[in-house]
Amino acid sequence: MSTVVITSRGEERIRNGHPWVYRSDVAEAQAEGGATVRLVGSRGRTIGHALYSDKSEIAIRLLTHGNEVADPAMWRTRLQQAIAFRNDLSIDATAYRLVHGEADRLPSLVVDRYGDYLVVQALSQGVDRLLPDLTRILVELARPAGILARNDPRVRLLEGLEQRVDLLHGAVPEAIEVREGAVRYQVDPYHGQKTGLFLDQRENRVAAAEYAHGRLLDAFSYNGGFALALAPKCDEVLAVDISEEAVARIRANAERNGLRNVEARAMNVFDELRELERRGERFDTIVLDPPAFAKNRASVTKALSGYKEINLRALKLLSPGGFLVTCSCSYNVSEAAFADVLAAAAVDARADVAVVEKRMQGRDHPVLMTVPETFYLKCFILRKIA
Ligand code: SAH
Repeated sequence: MSTVVITSRGEERIRNGHPWVYRSDVAEAQAEGGATVRLVGSRGRTIGHALYSDKSEIAIRLLTHGNEVADPAMWRTRLQQAIAFRNDLSIDATAYRLVHGEADRLPSLVVDRYGDYLVVQALSQGVDRLLPDLTRILVELARPAGILARNDPRVRLLEGLEQRVDLLHGAVPEAIEVREGAVRYQVDPYHGQKTGLFLDQRENRVAAAEYAHGRLLDAFSYNGGFALALAPKCDEVLAVDISEEAVARIRANAERNGLRNVEARAMNVFDELRELERRGERFDTIVLDPPAFAKNRASVTKALSGYKEINLRALKLLSPGGFLVTCSCSYNVSEAAFADVLAAAAVDARADVAVVEKRMQGRDHPVLMTVPETFYLKCFILRKIA
């Protein structure tokens, strides 16, 4: 078996519960990229078994500790555990995440369920190489009608892997109908963002519905995730997204669900918030769910000013007694940093604001305690007291 020797600093990271070892902490690698390797410490001790990448800065992704082997039986057991956990959550939806990488001890693997179909993502050389085995196991455990690999995220380039979309099993249609709570969506698994839907917001949509009332603004709406879930609680809904395609989907989804109070506009949210403010419009409920403004550490400062701007404007547009559901999915922006931005926005908006709930990504996307990178989605539900 191939071996990779890591430095004592690499060992220290693993002792602290992090499954990644960076390239700078690899002392010696006698392995091909994508191989499952025996991981050896600086004093020659076997630390465990891991996926090795010869391109990425993340050279090692730990699979097992000590002598436990990382064979297909191990992958099968972990996949089975991941699937059983989701079954136990009794999720009120036919679309949800079955496998969430590191937090399921299945690093760099994502599997989402859309009704009878699975969509997978292989985000490292190691998982990419194992896809035929993983497909076989998933077919056996989940009995899907089809499995699609949405291997087109940009992070694959860091692994020296191509961006591609492949059918791995059975057949997968261009449009899959799924249900989330009472809302029915049509999902395009081949071209939709992420694997088709923003599944990580499901529980935040349910939580937001508890507070939603009056006139709702759903900013960065994509295909209407929040707008459609909250519309039955509201008199009037305005959904805004910059993408014409997304807006067409919001309209189609509103119709599919018989919701007649949803208006969708293709606009840049930054411009639209300014315009709404200029016209003196007011909302009772506002959702801000922007894309990750901080894609890396270098862009954090700029991202914080983006978050500040939209939250400041939203707080101004909000009626007293209204609710702001505000999210950040930048893992480089901590919950504390995001809270600071929200506080600064409240001060500048001259609003008294209370935190009603602090939330995160849904339970099917769990956070691994020792891997801060897995806590990416922060969601605050705020009430404008006055
Ligand atoms: N709230 C959605 C997910 C939003 S994802 C849900 O619950 O499903 C972020 C969305 O923001 C994307 O659809 C993207 O098209 C849109 N977007 C990105 N920049 C934008 C901008 N400046 N103005 C409006 N929409 C934008």
